[in-house]
Amino acid sequence: MTRLGTRSAAPDFLDDPDVVPACAGVDSALFFPTREDSAAAAETANRYCRACPVRTPCRQWALRQSPNDLYGIWGGTTREDRLRIHRRRRAGADR
Ligand code: SF4
Repeated sequence: MTRLGTRSAAPDFLDDPDVVPACAGVDSALFFPTREDSAAAAETANRYCRACPVRTPCRQWALRQSPNDLYGIWGGTTREDRLRIHRRRRAGADR
């Protein structure tokens, strides 16, 4: 299984050993920015995500997780992005 740098989560979209995500080997701290540096760090992390061959499945996986449990940047989305998407989906489902 491909490892995602030092990130501890091992989502299913990383099961293909022939596909190397753009963040493999990158310092995981970049994908888990602190509040103080979140905007700049998120942009830097997103540069990896934009060039990543598994961006779409990564994003889909992240959106299947509870937004309350999953931190960090996944598939080019921050936790705040995912919370917003979940809220929009819930609002749409309530109509
Ligand atoms: S989309 Fe981003 S977080 Fe997901 S595997 Fe690729 S580089 Fe890593």
